[in-house]
Amino acid sequence: MDRRRGIPRTDALLADPRLRAAVERLGREPVKAAVRAAQQRARAGELAPTDVADAAVTALPATAGGLRPVLNATGVVLHTNLGRAALSAAALDAIVAAGGHTDVEFDLDTGKRARRGRTALAALAAAVPAAEAVHVVNNGAAALVLAATALAAGREIVVSRGEMVEIGDGFRLPDLLESTGARLREVGTTNRTSPADYAAAVGPATGFVLKVHPSNFVVRGFTSAAPVASLTGLGVPVVVDIGSGLLASDPLLPGEPDAAGTLRSGADLVIASGDKLLGGPQAGLLLGSSALVERLRRHPLARALRVDKLTLAALQATVAGPLPPTRQALRYDADELRDRTTRLCARLNHPDASVVPSVAVVGGGGAPELQLPSWSLSLPSGYAEPLRHTDPPVVGRVEHGRLLLDLRCVPAAADDTLAAAIRRCAASAPRAGA
Ligand SMILES: *Cc1c(COP(=O)(O)O)cnc(C)c1O
Repeated sequence: MDRRRGIPRTDALLADPRLRAAVERLGREPVKAAVRAAQQRARAGELAPTDVADAAVTALPATAGGLRPVLNATGVVLHTNLGRAALSAAALDAIVAAGGHTDVEFDLDTGKRARRGRTALAALAAAVPAAEAVHVVNNGAAALVLAATALAAGREIVVSRGEMVEIGDGFRLPDLLESTGARLREVGTTNRTSPADYAAAVGPATGFVLKVHPSNFVVRGFTSAAPVASLTGLGVPVVVDIGSGLLASDPLLPGEPDAAGTLRSGADLVIASGDKLLGGPQAGLLLGSSALVERLRRHPLARALRVDKLTLAALQATVAGPLPPTRQALRYDADELRDRTTRLCARLNHPDASVVPSVAVVGGGGAPELQLPSWSLSLPSGYAEPLRHTDPPVVGRVEHGRLLLDLRCVPAAADDTLAAAIRRCAASAPRAGA
């Protein structure tokens, strides 16, 4: 009870100039929460009453947004739980510029309404000349739902049994497609589907033939799949969900289909995500024939799947701007990475830290087989938990009882911060954490 005495009251703390400024920046509730937490720590005896204001200031969130920036040292370039693609500085600038009032749907020359997001759509179209028209919705799943609803509701989508994909978190593409009122006409088998299987299933009830890229798994052995080019003569649209969002082929990712190549093979409509290998914001890209894209664009559901101005701005900056971090991370030179990791390790000068070869992967965004030779800082696994509680949190991966920190997706400018965080954890963590 005595401890309560001397703990500054909330209104007194909120009068502290630093906390008053924080109210301006973050809003009242987050600041009050930090104040209450600091008072609570003082009541519990963890903090001297004179330190409550300082503790509240330290505990303030960096932004009012709630989502905390983390350092992705997992070696997984597109980590779904960490928000998939990290945006480029150009895309972040574009988002900030578009955050206020903006000409997203307004022509400054005529003073009249203009096509929403026209510059972003033009940039996307310019990046894929093989597409007659383009449209953008909220994500890849939304693009599929729009295509299925507009082109096949009450009709059939012909799809291979080998392409009935679960995309993650229990969501399955077949369920998603059927939720639109389209019926799935499954053809072929898990491992083999031929062009003749599709041809035999196509009829008056067919809305379109769908090809889905198995972006998160591989089937090996006695397998065959019908190439897109073999399905173009069936008299129905061929829709291809390429998943990962490569606009043009990338020699680094030979197994990944790209939008341009898929359209050149004869696809009528290509569907892809914006925040996988393209490295942009969450979005669903639809590229293809003018007639089909126009049908999708004018469908009532399109309004419900419409993207935000922030997405349009970030997408344009990704497509037309400098190479985004995702693409840079895939290209990171292994020797350079080893040298950088070695420098970090030398700075730590800690007996439990070492530099080890490791393997990085693309992650949920595609290329399930691709192994990127990498290097990691290896620490006892006991560091994993405290490092997740540094600011910014550092997320690595534990392998064979060691915490591996792969710097591939960590901005080089964050190395000082990372070194300091590890040193702080070393000072408090038990040596025998392994
Ligand atoms: C990721 C993926 C989707 C879903 O896209 P989201 O942008 O996550 O909605 C659909 N199909 C394939 C083949 C995918 O890889």
